[in-house]
Amino acid sequence: MDISKADKLKQHFSTRVTNQARHVLDLWRCLHDDQWQSARIQDLLQANDKLLRFAQRFDSEKYTKIAEKFDAILSSLEAEALPSSEQLNQLNDLMLQLSQGVLRHSDSNQSEKMIVVKKPVYMALNDTDNALQLAQQMEYFGLRAEPFNTQDELDQAIHKRHPLAIIMDIDFQATDNGLAIIKHHQGGEDDHSTFPVIFYSSHPMTLKQKLLCLRLGGISSLESLAPQAIISRIETLVNIVPEQPFRILIVDDSKSQALYTEKALNAAGMITEKVINPMEVLEVLESFQPEMILMDMYMPECNGVELAKVIRQDKHYINIPIIYLSGEEDKETQLKAMAEGGEDFLTKPVDPRHLLSTIRTRGSRARELSQLIARDSLTGLYNHTHILKALDEQIKLAERNNSSLCFVMVDIDHFKQVNDNHGHPVGDEVIKNLALFLSQRLRKTDYIGRYGGEEFAMVLPGAGIEDAHNIMDEIRNNFSHLLHGGQAALSSTFSCGIALYQGQKTSELIDLADQAMYLAKRDGRNCVKTCPSSD
Ligand code: GH3
Ligand code: MG
Ligand code: MG
Repeated sequence: MDISKADKLKQHFSTRVTNQARHVLDLWRCLHDDQWQSARIQDLLQANDKLLRFAQRFDSEKYTKIAEKFDAILSSLEAEALPSSEQLNQLNDLMLQLSQGVLRHSDSNQSEKMIVVKKPVYMALNDTDNALQLAQQMEYFGLRAEPFNTQDELDQAIHKRHPLAIIMDIDFQATDNGLAIIKHHQGGEDDHSTFPVIFYSSHPMTLKQKLLCLRLGGISSLESLAPQAIISRIETLVNIVPEQPFRILIVDDSKSQALYTEKALNAAGMITEKVINPMEVLEVLESFQPEMILMDMYMPECNGVELAKVIRQDKHYINIPIIYLSGEEDKETQLKAMAEGGEDFLTKPVDPRHLLSTIRTRGSRARELSQLIARDSLTGLYNHTHILKALDEQIKLAERNNSSLCFVMVDIDHFKQVNDNHGHPVGDEVIKNLALFLSQRLRKTDYIGRYGGEEFAMVLPGAGIEDAHNIMDEIRNNFSHLLHGGQAALSSTFSCGIALYQGQKTSELIDLADQAMYLAKRDGRNCVKTCPSSD
């Protein structure tokens, strides 16, 4: 099919907008590490300005708005001044919206359509049949794969354009030649940037070979070409969603001390809330929902340890990390405080760098832990409880931002037969493949959960009913082409129901999606139904 000139132009600009958006996201991430240095802020302002101009030329109302708002907040900061938590929150929201636009492969909203032109994945494999099949499977996951047959072609392609990643047979065309090719390119003096390599070997690698792969910057060395293994490796490379900032509650009866701490935290991009009167802590906990508490030790009316005990009596906060901040130098008291459930004890005056690194370490560990608890062990997706929690939170957010939201249910068709005919382990593999497939095809800001055995649930913030239908229908179609269980040539389908949030109760919204799904089953399966109907 011929692409018209206008379409080509549009694609050209959309690529520029997308690339520039990525650049802005990168700078935004670096800003916190550099403690909001004014030179870095200027870089970001300039990059954002460029994004704004590209967006205007591309007629993208959405991106224009994001860039304008971002500019307004960022340039309103006084010289040397740091953003408040409120401003950080707004800036973060905007960056999240920006990353959403860059990421979903299958959005179809006409004027806002971003044609995401991802770099290709180069493949240099001796087994060409296998390479072609792998390339095709990767396409279904939204990745562009380019297989090469000779070293010459590969060399030329690399010189022309660096790939997203390269899958390299260590014995490409000759024993150990794949290793030599990578060594040559990674060490090239013409270009300092390198690219990720996934090494493959058709025979078990020796320790020496494995070490060599590692030193050549290989992100993985595989001895099988299972698409899901390769795709999940590549997946981690393209994740550009900005990490959500830590939310820290500061409890301190000294206003000046609380302010001082707050400034240090804000400079590192953390969102804060202060409680000066400890008797108000429960209300603020409820409304602010922090991930961690910095607690002053000595306050009038009650001390920090007592307060921590009260807080931990609530099951919602049983695991929340609490770090004590105090002038207290008595080691005995510190030990007692720790025994009462404090995570750490920092003595005032605290070096801000020490404070930040403590918060980061504690915070990341707490996040990892809650992720573990929230995840389903077979698929790595959210479990039933947590996908519903995400739905509740996203509904609140949609109300606040006056944005749309869809809830999606998916159920694999005739899954009992898959188990009966191919065995339970193959059934498990189909479930895992669908999980991987959904993670790969949806936005990184969408929530995906395993609702039950072979049922999945998803929360799509920002999606209207038609968008959601188009995305899910494309996923449905692509999934039906996927082959499972290695050589078994087994394919599988699913039925899908979608409900649009229109102010209903959470349980009603879930019911509607469920009803739509059963409609899909009744209509012969392997299809997507919506409520309200999108056609
Ligand atoms: P329908 O098209 O109507 O959805 O038919 P179905 O066979 O998929 O539906 P049904 O609910 O009757 O069967 C679901 C089956 O999924 C039954 C159960 O043994 C299987 N199952 C549930 N969880 C798992 C799992 O974790 N692994 C495997 N392999 N099978 C599972
Ligand atoms: Mg079922
Ligand atoms: Mg089923």
